[in-house]
Amino acid sequence: MILTDLHLRNFRNYDDLEVAFSPGINVMIGENAQGKTNLLESIYVLALTKSHRTANDKELIKWQANEAFLSGHVKKENDKFPLELIFSSKGKKAKVNHLEQAKLSQYVGQLNVILFAPEDLSLVKGAPAMRRRFMDMEFGQMSNKYLYNSGQYRTILKQRNQYLKQLQQRKQKDRVFLQVLSDQLAAYGAEIMVARVTFLKQLETWAQVIHEEISQGKEQLTFQYASQIEVAENATVESVYDLLLAELTKNEEREIEQGSTMYGPQRDDLKFMVNGNNVQTYGSQGQQRTTALSVKLAEIDLMKEQTGEYPLLLLDDVLSELDDERQTHLLTAIQDKVQTFLTTTSLSGIARQLIKEPKIFEIEHGV
Ligand code: ATP
Ligand code: MG
Repeated sequence: MILTDLHLRNFRNYDDLEVAFSPGINVMIGENAQGKTNLLESIYVLALTKSHRTANDKELIKWQANEAFLSGHVKKENDKFPLELIFSSKGKKAKVNHLEQAKLSQYVGQLNVILFAPEDLSLVKGAPAMRRRFMDMEFGQMSNKYLYNSGQYRTILKQRNQYLKQLQQRKQKDRVFLQVLSDQLAAYGAEIMVARVTFLKQLETWAQVIHEEISQGKEQLTFQYASQIEVAENATVESVYDLLLAELTKNEEREIEQGSTMYGPQRDDLKFMVNGNNVQTYGSQGQQRTTALSVKLAEIDLMKEQTGEYPLLLLDDVLSELDDERQTHLLTAIQDKVQTFLTTTSLSGIARQLIKEPKIFEIEHGV
């Protein structure tokens, strides 16, 4: 898929911007603090209705302005339609083809993006929350059901944690209500866990091929979903629901003592193994970077497999973080295939030689 154009009003440091993009590689060049990342962020937001940098939508609205507006046209094989988003103090409105969507989960998935920023290079060694977020962002774009279940899960988890605190402080006594919440939590939790394991298996297949190529046949990459609850590769949602509910029930007393839910997908993690060893603990920095790159590139292929269209690739300042060899792998993998938006302070070295006919945008003070 392609984003043919973008219109921003009062988004971050942009007053009013209208641009037409190349279906190939778009390069945003500018000094620091001019609005390069803001522009990439706007494409990410247009796709997902939320930012990768902040959970606070208000930050997206230009200082002193009341609302931010974003729009653009998505072109797919047999389809072209506009997307529109408005952020204001009243919340956000999302339109597909000029029709307002009652649920954001219906809007997300029309435009698919994969973002690769320097922080992603620490996907392997960073905190587990980062890997959970990675799974949620990636799988949520490919599956409305995943997105819906995650939303429901979050709501019930919050409610259950509040209720556990009330039980802890003896403001509540009713254990039956806790069981109702546990039951609902286990139902949505099981859906999420089984979906993660299934999608990871598919992502692994793609990542293995790429990783083997980058490491010149020396390394085999495998993934492992890490959970306190055993989720076998072919586990059914019902079986995981039973296990999760049993764990929640068994540990009720401890959870009340702690005032929080101790089991479920919000505690799970993802392990990357190279030749059978955990890359997080045993991998060299180079292996960790290659792993992160393989995973990102595999996301592109998996999304194509799942949705029939290649996603957009957003590369924020990432070339300068990769050595020539890894830059070459990245750029040759996407060239002529994936519409790409990359930011840099200067296009130089191997990237300059490799990128064929980039469309270059010079950015200064949000213009
Ligand atoms: P770097 O090369 O350092 O990454 P950049 O070009 O990517 O720089 P951006 O992150 O896009 O820079 O930010 C540009 C500027 O946008 C920041 O200096 C900040 O002051 C400004 N900015 C951020 N949010 C808003 C907002 N809501 N309203 C107005 N300006 C904002
Ligand atoms: Mg930046």
